[in-house]
Amino acid sequence: MLTNKPKVVVIGSINMDMVTRSSRFPQKGETISGESFDQLPGGKGANQAVAAARLGAEVSMIGAVGDDHSGQALLKHLQDEQIDTSFVQILQGQTTGMAQITVSEEDNQIIIVPGANFALTKEHIDAAKDIIQSADIVVLQLEIPLEIVEHAAQIAAESAVKVILNPAPAPAERLNESLLQAVHYITPNETELAHMTEQSNVELGIEDLLKEKVDAVVVTLGSEGVRFKQKGDIVTGFVQGRDVEVIDTTGAGDTFNGALSYCLASGIELAEAIEFANDAAGLSVTKFGAQTGMPTLTEVRKF
Ligand code: ADP
Repeated sequence: MLTNKPKVVVIGSINMDMVTRSSRFPQKGETISGESFDQLPGGKGANQAVAAARLGAEVSMIGAVGDDHSGQALLKHLQDEQIDTSFVQILQGQTTGMAQITVSEEDNQIIIVPGANFALTKEHIDAAKDIIQSADIVVLQLEIPLEIVEHAAQIAAESAVKVILNPAPAPAERLNESLLQAVHYITPNETELAHMTEQSNVELGIEDLLKEKVDAVVVTLGSEGVRFKQKGDIVTGFVQGRDVEVIDTTGAGDTFNGALSYCLASGIELAEAIEFANDAAGLSVTKFGAQTGMPTLTEVRKF
Protein backbone atom coordinates (compact mmCIF):
# COMPACT_ATOMS: atom_id res chain seq x y z
CA MET A 1 0.00 0.00 0.00
CA LEU A 2 1.50 3.34 -1.04
CA THR A 3 0.46 6.33 1.05
CA ASN A 4 2.01 9.55 2.31
CA LYS A 5 1.24 8.61 5.86
CA PRO A 6 4.15 8.22 8.29
CA LYS A 7 5.15 4.56 8.50
CA VAL A 8 5.40 3.14 12.02
CA VAL A 9 6.41 -0.45 12.71
CA VAL A 10 5.65 -1.77 16.19
CA ILE A 11 7.32 -4.99 17.28
CA GLY A 12 5.91 -6.26 20.55
CA SER A 13 3.28 -7.92 22.65
CA ILE A 14 -0.37 -8.62 21.89
CA ASN A 15 -2.46 -9.61 24.91
CA MET A 16 -6.03 -10.12 25.93
CA ASP A 17 -6.69 -8.38 29.25
CA MET A 18 -9.19 -10.39 31.31
CA VAL A 19 -10.51 -7.88 33.82
CA THR A 20 -12.52 -9.05 36.83
CA ARG A 21 -13.99 -6.50 39.22
CA SER A 22 -14.81 -7.45 42.76
CA SER A 23 -15.38 -5.52 45.98
CA ARG A 24 -12.43 -7.34 47.57
CA PHE A 25 -9.84 -10.03 46.85
CA PRO A 26 -10.63 -13.61 47.93
CA GLN A 27 -8.82 -14.94 51.01
CA LYS A 28 -6.45 -17.88 50.54
CA GLY A 29 -8.56 -20.85 49.35
CA GLU A 30 -11.77 -18.78 49.24
CA THR A 31 -14.21 -18.46 46.31
CA ILE A 32 -16.19 -15.24 46.05
CA SER A 33 -18.60 -13.70 43.51
CA GLY A 34 -17.24 -10.86 41.44
CA GLU A 35 -19.16 -7.90 39.98
CA SER A 36 -18.13 -7.81 36.33
CA PHE A 37 -15.85 -9.37 33.74
CA ASP A 38 -14.46 -7.79 30.54
CA GLN A 39 -12.08 -8.97 27.84
CA LEU A 40 -10.14 -5.98 26.56
CA PRO A 41 -7.42 -5.88 23.89
CA GLY A 42 -4.06 -5.03 25.43
CA GLY A 43 -0.33 -5.70 25.48
CA LYS A 44 2.09 -2.77 25.27
CA GLY A 45 2.95 -3.51 21.64
CA ALA A 46 -0.64 -3.64 20.43
CA ASN A 47 -1.61 -0.63 22.57
CA GLN A 48 1.16 1.52 21.09
CA ALA A 49 0.25 0.34 17.58
CA VAL A 50 -3.38 1.37 18.13
CA ALA A 51 -2.34 4.76 19.56
CA ALA A 52 -0.23 5.53 16.47
CA ALA A 53 -2.89 4.25 14.04
CA ARG A 54 -5.70 6.33 15.61
CA LEU A 55 -3.59 9.45 15.00
CA GLY A 56 -3.19 8.55 11.35
CA ALA A 57 0.07 6.62 11.03
CA GLU A 58 0.34 3.67 8.65
CA VAL A 59 1.12 1.01 11.22
CA SER A 60 2.45 -2.51 10.79
CA MET A 61 2.41 -4.76 13.82
CA ILE A 62 4.96 -7.54 14.21
CA GLY A 63 4.18 -10.06 16.91
CA ALA A 64 2.45 -13.32 17.66
CA VAL A 65 -0.83 -14.71 18.95
CA GLY A 66 -1.90 -18.29 19.66
CA ASP A 67 -4.29 -20.37 17.57
CA ASP A 68 -7.23 -19.68 19.88
CA HIS A 69 -10.31 -17.45 20.13
CA SER A 70 -8.46 -14.59 21.80
CA GLY A 71 -5.85 -14.63 19.04
CA GLN A 72 -8.52 -14.43 16.34
CA ALA A 73 -10.35 -11.64 18.18
CA LEU A 74 -7.16 -9.61 18.70
CA LEU A 75 -6.09 -9.96 15.07
CA LYS A 76 -9.49 -8.74 13.90
CA HIS A 77 -9.35 -5.90 16.39
CA LEU A 78 -5.97 -4.72 15.05
CA GLN A 79 -7.28 -4.92 11.49
CA ASP A 80 -10.36 -2.91 12.47
CA GLU A 81 -7.95 -0.23 13.71
CA GLN A 82 -6.43 -0.19 10.16
CA ILE A 83 -3.23 -1.90 11.35
CA ASP A 84 -1.39 -4.19 8.94
CA THR A 85 -1.17 -7.65 10.56
CA SER A 86 0.65 -9.50 7.73
CA PHE A 87 3.52 -10.15 10.14
CA VAL A 88 1.51 -11.17 13.17
CA GLN A 89 2.18 -14.89 13.46
CA ILE A 90 -0.55 -17.30 14.52
CA LEU A 91 1.42 -19.93 16.39
CA GLN A 92 0.01 -23.45 16.60
CA GLY A 93 -0.01 -24.94 20.07
CA GLN A 94 0.62 -21.57 21.77
CA THR A 95 -1.86 -19.62 23.82
CA THR A 96 -2.40 -15.93 23.12
CA GLY A 97 -0.76 -13.64 25.65
CA MET A 98 -3.08 -13.02 28.56
CA ALA A 99 -3.21 -10.59 31.44
CA GLN A 100 -5.49 -11.67 34.25
CA ILE A 101 -6.38 -8.50 36.10
CA THR A 102 -8.40 -8.35 39.30
CA VAL A 103 -9.57 -4.92 40.35
CA SER A 104 -10.95 -4.44 43.85
CA GLU A 105 -12.03 -1.24 45.57
CA GLU A 106 -8.62 -0.95 47.24
CA ASP A 107 -6.09 -2.34 44.83
CA ASN A 108 -5.47 -4.48 41.78
CA GLN A 109 -3.57 -7.67 41.01
CA ILE A 110 -2.23 -8.74 37.64
CA ILE A 111 -0.86 -12.05 36.35
CA ILE A 112 0.55 -11.97 32.82
CA VAL A 113 1.03 -15.19 30.86
CA PRO A 114 3.12 -14.17 27.81
CA GLY A 115 2.27 -17.31 25.76
CA ALA A 116 2.78 -16.65 22.04
CA ASN A 117 4.58 -13.34 22.73
CA PHE A 118 7.50 -15.31 24.11
CA ALA A 119 7.47 -17.78 21.24
CA LEU A 120 8.46 -15.09 18.71
CA THR A 121 11.70 -16.08 16.96
CA LYS A 122 14.43 -14.26 15.05
CA GLU A 123 13.09 -15.94 11.89
CA HIS A 124 9.72 -14.27 12.44
CA ILE A 125 11.47 -10.91 12.63
CA ASP A 126 13.64 -11.69 9.59
CA ALA A 127 10.48 -12.43 7.59
CA ALA A 128 9.47 -8.79 8.18
CA LYS A 129 12.91 -7.34 7.39
CA ASP A 130 11.73 -5.32 4.37
CA ILE A 131 8.92 -3.69 6.25
CA ILE A 132 11.19 -2.86 9.22
CA GLN A 133 13.83 -1.34 6.97
CA SER A 134 11.35 0.78 5.06
CA ALA A 135 9.74 2.20 8.21
CA ASP A 136 10.00 5.85 9.24
CA ILE A 137 10.30 4.65 12.81
CA VAL A 138 10.38 1.34 14.70
CA VAL A 139 8.90 1.02 18.19
CA LEU A 140 9.94 -1.64 20.71
CA GLN A 141 9.04 -2.55 24.29
CA LEU A 142 10.15 -5.37 26.58
CA GLU A 143 7.15 -7.71 26.64
CA ILE A 144 8.78 -10.05 24.10
CA PRO A 145 12.12 -11.87 24.64
CA LEU A 146 15.05 -9.46 25.00
CA GLU A 147 17.06 -11.27 22.30
CA ILE A 148 14.21 -10.63 19.86
CA VAL A 149 14.13 -6.95 20.79
CA GLU A 150 17.89 -6.79 20.21
CA HIS A 151 17.61 -8.58 16.87
CA ALA A 152 14.82 -6.29 15.66
CA ALA A 153 16.78 -3.19 16.71
CA GLN A 154 19.84 -4.44 14.80
CA ILE A 155 17.78 -4.95 11.63
CA ALA A 156 16.45 -1.39 11.91
CA ALA A 157 19.95 -0.04 12.58
CA GLU A 158 21.36 -1.76 9.45
CA SER A 159 19.22 0.59 7.39
CA ALA A 160 19.60 3.58 9.72
CA VAL A 161 15.92 3.39 10.67
CA LYS A 162 15.34 5.19 13.96
CA VAL A 163 14.17 3.15 16.94
CA ILE A 164 12.11 4.14 19.98
CA LEU A 165 12.64 1.76 22.89
CA ASN A 166 10.06 1.94 25.65
CA PRO A 167 11.87 -0.12 28.31
CA ALA A 168 8.69 -1.45 29.91
CA PRO A 169 8.20 -3.47 31.98
CA ALA A 170 11.39 -2.45 33.80
CA PRO A 171 14.24 -4.70 32.63
CA ALA A 172 15.65 -7.10 35.22
CA GLU A 173 19.21 -6.19 34.28
CA ARG A 174 21.03 -3.32 32.62
CA LEU A 175 20.33 -3.32 28.90
CA ASN A 176 23.38 -4.22 26.88
CA GLU A 177 25.39 -1.76 24.84
CA SER A 178 24.69 -3.30 21.48
CA LEU A 179 20.95 -2.82 21.99
CA LEU A 180 21.31 0.77 23.20
CA GLN A 181 23.59 1.56 20.25
CA ALA A 182 20.70 0.77 17.91
CA VAL A 183 18.22 2.91 19.88
CA HIS A 184 17.68 6.63 19.19
CA TYR A 185 14.97 7.45 21.70
CA ILE A 186 14.55 5.66 25.00
CA THR A 187 11.31 6.39 26.88
CA PRO A 188 11.26 5.00 30.43
CA ASN A 189 8.79 6.13 33.08
CA GLU A 190 10.29 7.27 36.38
CA THR A 191 10.28 3.79 37.93
CA GLU A 192 11.84 2.16 34.88
CA LEU A 193 14.53 4.85 34.75
CA ALA A 194 15.40 4.31 38.42
CA HIS A 195 15.49 0.56 37.86
CA MET A 196 17.76 0.80 34.83
CA THR A 197 20.23 3.35 36.17
CA GLU A 198 20.02 2.82 39.93
CA GLN A 199 19.66 6.61 40.19
CA SER A 200 16.76 7.92 42.24
CA ASN A 201 17.08 11.40 40.71
CA VAL A 202 15.61 11.84 37.22
CA GLU A 203 18.32 14.24 35.94
CA LEU A 204 21.08 11.89 37.09
CA GLY A 205 19.26 8.94 35.53
CA ILE A 206 19.02 10.81 32.23
CA GLU A 207 22.76 11.64 32.29
CA ASP A 208 23.50 8.01 33.07
CA LEU A 209 21.57 6.79 30.01
CA LEU A 210 23.09 9.48 27.78
CA LYS A 211 26.52 7.98 28.49
CA GLU A 212 25.31 5.10 26.33
CA LYS A 213 24.89 5.47 22.60
CA VAL A 214 21.22 6.54 22.76
CA ASP A 215 20.51 9.90 21.17
CA ALA A 216 17.75 11.11 23.48
CA VAL A 217 16.20 10.13 26.80
CA VAL A 218 12.52 10.93 27.34
CA VAL A 219 11.22 10.24 30.84
CA THR A 220 7.48 10.21 31.47
CA LEU A 221 6.52 11.40 34.95
CA GLY A 222 2.81 10.58 35.19
CA SER A 223 0.66 13.61 36.02
CA GLU A 224 3.79 15.79 36.25
CA GLY A 225 4.58 15.45 32.55
CA VAL A 226 7.81 14.65 30.76
CA ARG A 227 11.50 15.46 31.19
CA PHE A 228 13.84 14.92 28.25
CA LYS A 229 17.33 15.52 26.97
CA GLN A 230 19.05 14.95 23.68
CA LYS A 231 22.80 14.30 23.41
CA GLY A 232 24.94 17.40 23.34
CA ASP A 233 22.14 19.50 24.86
CA ILE A 234 20.60 19.99 21.43
CA VAL A 235 17.16 19.70 22.94
CA THR A 236 16.52 19.56 26.64
CA GLY A 237 13.53 20.42 28.72
CA PHE A 238 10.40 19.70 30.63
CA VAL A 239 6.79 19.56 29.50
CA GLN A 240 4.16 20.03 32.18
CA GLY A 241 1.48 17.31 32.39
CA ARG A 242 -2.00 18.50 31.35
CA ASP A 243 -4.42 19.38 34.11
CA VAL A 244 -7.23 16.92 33.42
CA GLU A 245 -9.94 15.02 35.25
CA VAL A 246 -8.38 11.59 35.65
CA ILE A 247 -10.61 8.57 35.07
CA ASP A 248 -8.12 5.79 34.29
CA THR A 249 -4.36 6.05 33.74
CA THR A 250 -4.03 2.56 32.26
CA GLY A 251 -2.24 2.83 28.94
CA ALA A 252 -1.09 6.45 29.43
CA GLY A 253 2.50 5.46 28.66
CA ASP A 254 1.37 3.46 25.62
CA THR A 255 -0.58 6.41 24.26
CA PHE A 256 2.46 8.60 24.84
CA ASN A 257 4.77 6.23 22.94
CA GLY A 258 2.31 5.70 20.10
CA ALA A 259 1.83 9.44 19.70
CA LEU A 260 5.56 10.12 19.92
CA SER A 261 6.20 7.56 17.18
CA TYR A 262 3.52 9.13 14.98
CA CYS A 263 5.12 12.58 15.31
CA LEU A 264 8.73 11.49 14.90
CA ALA A 265 7.78 9.37 11.87
CA SER A 266 6.11 12.48 10.43
CA GLY A 267 9.41 14.37 10.72
CA ILE A 268 8.32 16.57 13.64
CA GLU A 269 11.16 17.77 15.89
CA LEU A 270 11.64 16.01 19.23
CA ALA A 271 10.49 18.83 21.57
CA GLU A 272 7.31 19.42 19.60
CA ALA A 273 6.69 15.66 19.31
CA ILE A 274 6.94 15.33 23.10
CA GLU A 275 4.44 18.16 23.63
CA PHE A 276 1.99 16.50 21.29
CA ALA A 277 2.47 13.07 22.94
CA ASN A 278 1.98 14.65 26.38
CA ASP A 279 -1.34 16.11 25.14
CA ALA A 280 -2.44 12.78 23.63
CA ALA A 281 -1.57 10.87 26.82
CA GLY A 282 -3.23 13.55 28.98
CA LEU A 283 -6.41 13.13 26.94
CA SER A 284 -6.26 9.33 27.22
CA VAL A 285 -6.42 9.35 31.03
CA THR A 286 -9.79 11.14 30.92
CA LYS A 287 -11.41 7.94 29.64
CA PHE A 288 -11.73 4.40 30.98
CA GLY A 289 -9.57 1.62 29.49
CA ALA A 290 -6.15 1.51 27.84
CA GLN A 291 -7.18 1.62 24.18
CA THR A 292 -10.67 3.12 24.56
CA GLY A 293 -9.18 6.44 25.63
CA MET A 294 -6.62 6.73 22.82
CA PRO A 295 -7.42 9.93 20.90
CA THR A 296 -7.60 10.73 17.19
CA LEU A 297 -5.58 13.54 15.60
CA THR A 298 -8.63 15.83 15.55
CA GLU A 299 -9.24 15.22 19.26
CA VAL A 300 -5.63 16.07 20.19
CA ARG A 301 -5.66 19.22 18.04
CA LYS A 302 -8.90 20.38 19.66
CA PHE A 303 -7.49 19.68 23.13
P1 ADP B 1 3.23 4.74 32.36
O1 ADP B 1 1.78 4.65 31.98
O2 ADP B 1 4.13 4.03 31.40
O3 ADP B 1 3.53 4.44 33.79
P2 ADP B 1 3.31 7.60 32.96
O4 ADP B 1 2.47 7.29 34.16
O5 ADP B 1 4.59 8.31 33.18
O6 ADP B 1 3.65 6.28 32.12
O7 ADP B 1 2.38 8.42 31.94
C1 ADP B 1 2.79 8.69 30.62
C2 ADP B 1 2.35 10.07 30.23
O8 ADP B 1 0.92 10.13 30.29
C3 ADP B 1 2.82 11.19 31.12
O9 ADP B 1 4.12 11.61 30.79
C4 ADP B 1 1.76 12.25 30.84
O10 ADP B 1 2.01 12.86 29.58
C5 ADP B 1 0.49 11.42 30.72
N1 ADP B 1 -0.19 11.26 32.02
C6 ADP B 1 -0.15 10.18 32.83
N2 ADP B 1 -0.90 10.38 33.96
C7 ADP B 1 -1.42 11.62 33.83
C8 ADP B 1 -2.29 12.43 34.63
N3 ADP B 1 -2.76 12.00 35.82
N4 ADP B 1 -2.62 13.66 34.17
C9 ADP B 1 -2.16 14.13 33.00
N5 ADP B 1 -1.35 13.41 32.19
C10 ADP B 1 -0.98 12.18 32.58
